[in-house]
Amino acid sequence: MAMKYHPDRNPGDKAAEDKFKEAAEAYEVLSDADKRARYDRYGHDAVSGNARGFQGGGMNMDDIFSQFGDVFGDEGGPFGSFFGGGGGGRRTGQTGQKGTNLRIKVSLSLEEIATGVNKKIKVKKQVKCHNCAGTGAKDANSVKTCGTCQGSGYVRQVRNTFLGQMQTTAVCPTCHGAGKSITAHCHVCKGEGVTHESETIDIDIPVGVEGGMQLSMRGKGNAGKNGGPAGDLLITIEELPHEQFTRDGMNIIHDLYINFADAALGTSVEVPTLEGRVKVKIPAATQAGKILRLKGKGLPSVQEYGRGDQLININIWTPRDLTAEEKAILEKLRSAPNFQPKPTKEDKGFFERMKEMFQ
Ligand SMILES: [Zn+2]
Ligand SMILES: [Zn+2]
Repeated sequence: MAMKYHPDRNPGDKAAEDKFKEAAEAYEVLSDADKRARYDRYGHDAVSGNARGFQGGGMNMDDIFSQFGDVFGDEGGPFGSFFGGGGGGRRTGQTGQKGTNLRIKVSLSLEEIATGVNKKIKVKKQVKCHNCAGTGAKDANSVKTCGTCQGSGYVRQVRNTFLGQMQTTAVCPTCHGAGKSITAHCHVCKGEGVTHESETIDIDIPVGVEGGMQLSMRGKGNAGKNGGPAGDLLITIEELPHEQFTRDGMNIIHDLYINFADAALGTSVEVPTLEGRVKVKIPAATQAGKILRLKGKGLPSVQEYGRGDQLININIWTPRDLTAEEKAILEKLRSAPNFQPKPTKEDKGFFERMKEMFQ
């Protein structure tokens, strides 16, 4: 799309320029895991700068070209390697293979998601060879200009087709774009230009992330070859199950069990929250299934404004084992007039409660 609507192919065409901008936005969203997650959840406004809390706003043409950095080639401006044709000599020595992306998984507790966390993760990755500075050559004398492409890194191919002669430009098959050939290889990396090493990477995990989200760190992946840029580090978030809470978006749900006497008479209980235990008052005549809401005790939004609630789902504990004495007390109460169910509108059933919970 970007190629088709490129402004240089459609000079003065406003419609083409708009299409090009749209393609740039799509590319920006797709290439940024964080933005993509927002787009998937909140749609166009979340990433275009229209929504509260996002910087930016409209993109200008320079931003757009920079968005397409890796499509058009970071070197040589917007015409980089993507468009092929044109003076190949201009790009001498500026190409190279981009390093591959590195993928890791990071497991987080709900507490870590609530506060954000810095993780130091040891990864095995390809790094630029220290011995040859990534050239793959034994020394300066073992580097010669590539005979196939005369150092340009590109070769021109002329093909006869039924439309006439077509000229295309391709990366040199001998030097893979480096423009140089190596007569003696570096003994450390065997000419690869990269070695395997473990590196500890500092990762700042933003607050509010969710299992399955992917973060990306530009240039933290494997080293590139022949002077190419490093790949990216892609971090998939995994959420550890919690003993006390279940997550529902930004809200967290806690199941609380109280006994029948406490439900009837009212009481005060301690409940866990992500920030420690708090006292909660249980009013007299609390029905099973009532949901108490602790405002703001849920998870922060990944957009860094707003915070979810903690929902306390009240369960009435029915005893499993009873002594003869306990049974006798309950037998007396069984037929007491106030013990007969008389539900009113306020005594919400399951479906009413669910509606309330997700409003
Ligand atoms: Zn070559
Ligand atoms: Zn080396």
